[in-house]
Amino acid sequence: MRFAPTELTGPELELQAEVRDFLAAELAPGSYDRALGMGAGKDKEFSKKLAARGWVGMALPTRYGGHDRTAVDRFVVVEELLRHGAPVGYHWVADRQTGSIINRFGTEDQRERFLPPICRGELGFSIGMSEPDSGSDLASVSTRGTRTDGGWLLNGTKVWTSGAHENDWFVVLCRTAPLEDGNKHQGLSQLLVDLSAPGLEINPIPFLDGSHHFNEVVMTDVFVPDELVLGELGMGWAQNTSELAYERGGPDRWLSTYGVVEEFLRANEGTPLGSRAREMLGWATARWWTLRNLSLSVARMIDEGAAPSVESALVKEMGTRFEQDITERVLELVDLEPSPESASLFERMLAAAVLTGPSFTIRGGTTEILRSVASKGLSA
Ligand SMILES: Cc1cc2nc3c(=O)[nH]c(=O)nc-3n(C[C@H](O)[C@H](O)[C@H](O)COP(=O)(O)OP(=O)(O)OC[C@H]3O[C@@H](n4cnc5c(N)ncnc54)[C@H](O)[C@@H]3O)c2cc1C
Repeated sequence: MRFAPTELTGPELELQAEVRDFLAAELAPGSYDRALGMGAGKDKEFSKKLAARGWVGMALPTRYGGHDRTAVDRFVVVEELLRHGAPVGYHWVADRQTGSIINRFGTEDQRERFLPPICRGELGFSIGMSEPDSGSDLASVSTRGTRTDGGWLLNGTKVWTSGAHENDWFVVLCRTAPLEDGNKHQGLSQLLVDLSAPGLEINPIPFLDGSHHFNEVVMTDVFVPDELVLGELGMGWAQNTSELAYERGGPDRWLSTYGVVEEFLRANEGTPLGSRAREMLGWATARWWTLRNLSLSVARMIDEGAAPSVESALVKEMGTRFEQDITERVLELVDLEPSPESASLFERMLAAAVLTGPSFTIRGGTTEILRSVASKGLSA
């Protein structure tokens, strides 16, 4: 495991300033409902505006509408968006991972069909990995693709599918060949599935705070044509593992509760901070600085052609625990039980952090699984 120290270059700092100016003009404080990191709301118009600036699908090739930029450039943009609590929800998954895996594993037809609308911020993707009996042990998925004329019939149930009710497509991990010799990693494939396809039913799973964020997706004989098999048939496990590497290690894993601290300060503007509040700020700033450097180092490694999946796992493990710790520390400072209906933005954000915070160390791989990945990497 290696985290080489790195800093933003001159052009990267210029990009950062550009994004800050854009956000200051587009989303002035009080003009929008500031969200907790990537759990932000969906605003298709905002996604399109961002795309028009060249900030969606940044690392994808220009010939498909992308911008051939680096992982660090994307880091810079995403860090600013998340710090701002911008409504990034609609393009988030497509931008973070689906575009990249279609570019890497997809056919030329798939690239031409999906990448340009992703880069325009016009196509939302969900992730169809988890199932009622397969979360951490993802290779045990039981959704099955059965061969039929010209394609596959999908049967099975996915759960915790974020945004399936609002997005357009999802990538389904399924079994397309029977289990042989008990090797669960073989015979899995990834299929690109239209979320409005006949036979597909989307049922809401209410979040702890009552909001509709994720779903159960039931598939009954959903027809998926051969041209929508992503990558090589039977190679779904390897592809899926590489997809997970895009999911971890970025600013979305340590900035979710940044806005809670900023709104705490805004709510207390003009009042001298007590020693406990100052101590909390020092503690949080030191940790943000450290996590940011580790996370930036991961992005730099990706640009150097490395596959820092172990380093990413460690960033997510430490980052998401820190996101939860912030909520606890801020709660200790205020004498209130925050209400999601409060007129105060700070209180609403704190309430959201209390109610949704437990999910930070579960989504994208639980703390225990990430520790296991990191420790295996250390001993390799
Ligand atoms: C907000 C949110 C959004 C999500 N969005 C999506 C989505 O869009 N698409 C999608 O496919 N999934 C999504 N998920 C699902 C998420 O990826 C799974 O919840 C996660 O992988 C854990 O799986 P599980 O819930 O089945 O828990 P389990 O795997 O049953 O784990 C239960 C507990 O056992 C522990 N455990 C399990 N195996 C081991 C082991 N080998 N060693 C040590 N401990 C272990 C876990 O750490 C955990 O504490 C989302 C989850 C959340 C909370």
